[in-house]
Amino acid sequence: MTVVGRIAPSPTGRLHLGHARSFLLAWWSARAQGGRVVLRIDDLDQQRTVPGSAEQILEDLSWLGLDWDGEPLLQSTRAAAYREALRRLEEHGAIYPCVCTRKEIASAVSAPHASDGETRYPGTCRADPSRARQAPAGSRALRYRVPDGPVSWLDRFMGPAKIDVARTAGDFVVARRDGVASYQLATAVDDAYQGVTEVVRGEDLLPSAARQMLLARALGLEVPEQAHVRLVVDHRGERLAKRDGAVTLDELRRAGVTSERICRWAARSAGLTETEHPRPANFWVSQPMMEREVDQPIRLPLRLLEDL
Ligand code: GLU
Repeated sequence: MTVVGRIAPSPTGRLHLGHARSFLLAWWSARAQGGRVVLRIDDLDQQRTVPGSAEQILEDLSWLGLDWDGEPLLQSTRAAAYREALRRLEEHGAIYPCVCTRKEIASAVSAPHASDGETRYPGTCRADPSRARQAPAGSRALRYRVPDGPVSWLDRFMGPAKIDVARTAGDFVVARRDGVASYQLATAVDDAYQGVTEVVRGEDLLPSAARQMLLARALGLEVPEQAHVRLVVDHRGERLAKRDGAVTLDELRRAGVTSERICRWAARSAGLTETEHPRPANFWVSQPMMEREVDQPIRLPLRLLEDL
């Protein structure tokens, strides 16, 4: 079986070192197995999309030394495929319309938020379908009827993983009120469409992995192997955000940091290399891939430009 890895950036701003590390690991993993790498642009969320950012991301990826097979897939062109997936889920009674507002959901739940900051949907419209029936079109989202019980898998880099979606997120949204597919649905559909066999991405997406696996199974799609990698945090231990200008690849490049140094940093942080020397991305394709991810988030040095 040919391995197919993927890189799936959101065009919401410039790439930072956290993206660079995840994308390098995804690329190294697939290429080291003689696999293909496909690129997908997650541009469904129009409000978060920054014009021109997709092009800049392609430039940053190329500068890093990454390449991909075929044309990038834009999620904004895939509405028909998502509609078809929703139709199939509907046919199986696996989704239902929901008219709850965020405010209603927040006031209906007394439990604290799930670990990813999301509120568990209390199932109001599942319990009372008449609410949505009376509501005008355009005011109904669609939710997936999450089965009880945990989703378990062996994550290649994180080890055994177990997430109870019903208890943490509850029935999650698969299409928004305006009809646009949710990230969870689009990802499950597109990973299968692009023939992805392994998903390598940041550990912040572990809760999403469980949801996407549920959807893939419900749609009769292949479930790709999951391999989550650590997040990169700044020297204070705080998560990198796209707004932290100093760690975007673009800023680093302007400050004179070479892509070879970034590749060396990413490879070392994953225990991939003995070499002291900066090398282009393809150097590590022939090195043994890490088996398990390190225990802690990856902390950036205080003196970034000197110590990277
Ligand atoms: N586009 C998502 C992001 O940048 C990642 C999606 C995925 O890897 O499934 O956060």
